[in-house]
Amino acid sequence: MTKPRIVTCPTCLQGVKWTSKNEHRPFCSERCKLIDLGGWASEEHRIADVQAVDFEAKTSE
Ligand SMILES: [Zn+2]
Repeated sequence: MTKPRIVTCPTCLQGVKWTSKNEHRPFCSERCKLIDLGGWASEEHRIADVQAVDFEAKTSE
């Protein structure tokens, strides 16, 4: 008799049972998983933009 561990879905912050049946863990659903992956992608784009601006600033010195 083992109680399933409860984790927090990183996207909607609701409690999710960490079980082998939940293939989207730690997310509550595929939807939340995709939203989180999309967030990571846009974060990377933002970092790339910052580096581009920094490069321009250096060359104009
Ligand atoms: Zn969720």
